[in-house]
Amino acid sequence: MPGPRSWGPAGDPVKRRPNSRRLGRHWLFCVLAGEIVAGKRLIIPFFLNQEGCVRRCIFCNQHIISGAKKTDARSGLAETVAAYLATAGSRPDRTVQIAFYGGSFTSLELSKQNEYLRCGQQFIAQGVVHSLRLSTRPDSLDQDGCRRLQAFGVRTVELGVQSLNDRVLAVCNRGHDAAVALAAVKLVKDQGFETGVQLMLGLPGQSRESFQETVEKTIAAGPDFVRLYPAVVLRHTPWELRLGDADYQPLSLAAAVEWCGWALKVFKPAGIPVVRMGLHPSDGLIAPGNIVAGPYHPAFGELVKSYLFREKVIDILGKLVLDRQSRLEKGRRISVSVGLHRADVSAFVGHQRANLPEYCRRLEGIDIGWHVDRRQHRGEFACVANEGRLVDHCSVFS
Ligand code: SF4
Repeated sequence: MPGPRSWGPAGDPVKRRPNSRRLGRHWLFCVLAGEIVAGKRLIIPFFLNQEGCVRRCIFCNQHIISGAKKTDARSGLAETVAAYLATAGSRPDRTVQIAFYGGSFTSLELSKQNEYLRCGQQFIAQGVVHSLRLSTRPDSLDQDGCRRLQAFGVRTVELGVQSLNDRVLAVCNRGHDAAVALAAVKLVKDQGFETGVQLMLGLPGQSRESFQETVEKTIAAGPDFVRLYPAVVLRHTPWELRLGDADYQPLSLAAAVEWCGWALKVFKPAGIPVVRMGLHPSDGLIAPGNIVAGPYHPAFGELVKSYLFREKVIDILGKLVLDRQSRLEKGRRISVSVGLHRADVSAFVGHQRANLPEYCRRLEGIDIGWHVDRRQHRGEFACVANEGRLVDHCSVFS
């Protein structure tokens, strides 16, 4: 049971410090050791720098996003794999994938595709890598192509869908419509690949409604996972040149967090994991001047989770406690401690403790503290007042 140590002192009701080093460690780990999905998979990214792209999407500059230099396939891949494996160490319970990202893999010349795939296959043969994955355009895949990828050991295909609204796709110069993207998701799924869909929010021409429609259509298409990227304006992109136009304004950071939070709450009950929110803070991306405008934040995913916690806690406590307060002596303060899964404390507190003043401001008359509660799962919380438990297993996704 939570003890009295959980309560904040009078006048400073919220006193626990977040684990301020967690974010730093997470960021460092991503940079050095690749991306871990569900703690059991190491993904080693190898960036293609827009190779294979038959047209230029209005928002894209992969040279900046990846920060990677163009390199020879064989030596570059060998170096990358060796560096990542050395940093991450070996773990028998972990699967390792080489990922070809940052281009349109299946639009590359066949000889080039095969060169990359053979390089990857060698690591599979050596037993240090289990399979390959790649991202590509939805309009550059067919059944024969899928079979060829499978023969080389590709197990995961991520489709750069971005939007399922025809107008948005046209404004962004994608060169295909939503029907093509949905057909590609079906093809990849039917061929037995683990299927990922990459979506963007805040694209030129995209309204909140069209983003929501895209999310709903994506859920109906049933991919295995999604990634959500707020659209930012990068240097040397066609979007940068249109930035003076009212129709080409990016989202604010607050709006992007809110849109993404909504999407997370919709994908979660549909059983579709959101494995990434926000661009990876590569050296190229964070170099001065490369982000011209838009909702970039190095810990965007943390901001979204913090937003969900803040809004849900305030909503629940606002209703429960203030209702109780109205039945008690007028003006009496109520103390509440929020019970959290250990890993959710930072989301409750907020990035750089930003949620704490919000709790104080919007929950007048309530002294709020928190404690770790082993009974809560990730994304859940309990609220405990002096008189007892007010609510239990309340999900921020509901
Ligand atoms: S978004 Fe994808 S398809 Fe478009 S230019 Fe960038 S890498 Fe190529």
